[in-house]
Amino acid sequence: MKIYLNGKLVDKDKAIISVFDHGLLYGDGVFEGIRTYDCLIFRLKEHIDRLFKSADAIELKMPMTKIELIEAIIKTLKANRLKDAYIRLVITRGVGDLGLDPRKCRHPTVFIITDYIVLYPKKFYQKGLEIVTATTKRNLPQALNPKIKSLNYLNNILAKIDAIKSGTEEAIMLTYNDYVAECTGDNIFIVNGGELLTPPVDIGALEGITRDAVIGLAKKSGIPFYEKLLKMEDVYSANEVFLTGTAAEIIPVVRIDERRIGNGKPGGLTLRLREQFKALTKIDGVRYAL
Ligand code: PMP
Repeated sequence: MKIYLNGKLVDKDKAIISVFDHGLLYGDGVFEGIRTYDCLIFRLKEHIDRLFKSADAIELKMPMTKIELIEAIIKTLKANRLKDAYIRLVITRGVGDLGLDPRKCRHPTVFIITDYIVLYPKKFYQKGLEIVTATTKRNLPQALNPKIKSLNYLNNILAKIDAIKSGTEEAIMLTYNDYVAECTGDNIFIVNGGELLTPPVDIGALEGITRDAVIGLAKKSGIPFYEKLLKMEDVYSANEVFLTGTAAEIIPVVRIDERRIGNGKPGGLTLRLREQFKALTKIDGVRYAL
């Protein structure tokens, strides 16, 4: 496997970065998780735009242009001959000293990993996922804004540990004042009385690319859609619940904290949106040839 590292394609075991890299020492950096479907990089422009926004939010000056990054991604996919892949694009603050000062980091580190995609097992798409509410609250937007896709994922990891301890794969994260924000690695939607609802990202959630795609599909199909503040009571009493994310795509949720959602089966609108999303992954992105 070839890894793109600071302008070069290197073998996986030679893709090594310094222990003084502030991405490692402090989680100081940004990243993207992108997916390809049969040689189409899904919504690549949107991912690159979000990466630049995240970098801007932490005052990290990008060492490459958007076009250069896209070329580097395609070069890495080609080197690994991958048609259906997961792309991890990472920009760290770079090598510095042991202090926090980002000015000491002269050159950001850029690496791109392209690998086979690891998915939730098929049974979760057929039967639906069981999840829990995390005891760990989502970061305050005024402290570390969850809109920034930074390398600092400890908040999410602590909530993931909550999920694992409860014997599940995902957990809903609430804001400090108990509004539903998102899950550890996915956004959340509910369907109630034919309306599709999701929390506004400003309360403390990542503006998911899959989330945006689903909102677009709903609007196109004339499904009433609203961004709305949600409490867990709204989620428990919803007819349908589903999660969205690059790796998960659209995954139905049928149980939360041991409570059954709807009739305990993946909902009709969830499945319809899933079909429409599948169709979108065939057309909406940047193509490459191997
Ligand atoms: N929320 C969080 C915290 C995430 O890490 C992700 C990405 N895995 C998402 C939501 C979903 O975003 P996207 O649809 O862009 O993958």
